[in-house]
Amino acid sequence: MDITMENLAINGGTPVRTQPFPIWPVFDALEENMLLEVIRSGKWGGAGTALTSEYPSKLLQMEESIAKLQDAAYGVSVVNGTVAITVALQAAGLRPGDEVIIPPYTFIATATAALAYGVIPVFADIEEDTFLIDPDKVELAITSRTKAIMPVHIGGAPANMERIMTIARAHNLKVIEDSAQAIGAKWDGQGVGAIGDIGTFSFQSSKNLNAGEGGLLVTNDKELRDLAWSICNVGRVPGGAWYQHTNLGQNYRMTELQAALLLAQLTRLEDQMQRREANARLLDELLQDIDGVRVTARHPKMTRHAHHLYIFRIAPDRAGRRDKAEIIRMLNAEGIPVTAGYVSLNRNHAIIKAVRDWRGSEMINECPISERLSEQEALWLGQNVLLSDEQAMYDIAAAVRKVLHAGQ
Ligand SMILES: *Cc1c(COP(=O)(O)O)cnc(C)c1O
Repeated sequence: MDITMENLAINGGTPVRTQPFPIWPVFDALEENMLLEVIRSGKWGGAGTALTSEYPSKLLQMEESIAKLQDAAYGVSVVNGTVAITVALQAAGLRPGDEVIIPPYTFIATATAALAYGVIPVFADIEEDTFLIDPDKVELAITSRTKAIMPVHIGGAPANMERIMTIARAHNLKVIEDSAQAIGAKWDGQGVGAIGDIGTFSFQSSKNLNAGEGGLLVTNDKELRDLAWSICNVGRVPGGAWYQHTNLGQNYRMTELQAALLLAQLTRLEDQMQRREANARLLDELLQDIDGVRVTARHPKMTRHAHHLYIFRIAPDRAGRRDKAEIIRMLNAEGIPVTAGYVSLNRNHAIIKAVRDWRGSEMINECPISERLSEQEALWLGQNVLLSDEQAMYDIAAAVRKVLHAGQ
């Protein structure tokens, strides 16, 4: 039967779905008990915790567990994922005025964390079919001031680390992986984060591993680990005296309470990853049959997707000439919580102004693919949606088909 415009929920028709999607975070008595354990110990955090292993510190245990999960030798906890990026750039030896190449299709913190330290973000456009930084565009963006490349594993899909590492070696650049959305992700069998020199993670409340707030740096390099640790601990050095401040640092420490939550949440991660993967595969299959929809491609060397976001595209010219905002309103009315996602960062006025302030009047690279995908084509579903049952994926696909083809 043909779907008419009157059938759409936005016009008073019956919505495809009225069932809610899973709430986030998922927790039970385990989180409560681990928090109680910390509260009763009286050791809630502070430098003493981080400096010694006198008692079974949850922070030390968490740093070790997550580093291991990502195939990294060391982990250093920090207050959040934004600060983790600033510390990573500082530890990697970048100085104010240096340039770091980043994708424009990312959370604003990727750029502002660099600018906070005076490092200039230079944009390299994304690949149309994956939303990930395009290695060819990275090569074109290198200048005499470039000191690092910071790929972002957007939505939990690893960027092309093989090409990025080759380019970095050829030009003597550091690689910092913004892995805020990619806990558990693997590229070519290896956990993301320490494929490059340093990787950063976020435990902000929406992320797939959640402590309310929090972050982690991972690396395989002992010197980088010690320097990152020092920057996060007011410049103290491991084994040094209390008032010996060898490096310029701040207090960027996380608490034991957050580490306890992370250790509890870690026990749920593998099951959640498997469920998200199965649902994402099913949704890919269902959506790719719909005229006017394009699913996001997977690089053959991506061995594990972390699915922080499920990103898909609409082709407005084949979607009844409806624009993205209208399609989102229609899908929301059908009970599907799609959102619009990022504005391409090369178009953000705060960033344009900050780059101009640091740098004089130089231009920001144009990123036509990121601009078009963000403005006209990309739709997002959050990771909690992928924790639903299979029926939810059928409902999403049915709603997309209904909205794109109504009145056609
Ligand atoms: C969440 C996020 C960050 C920042 O992490 P916070 O913990 O929120 O400071 C940085 N980069 C990306 C890609 C993110 O998604």
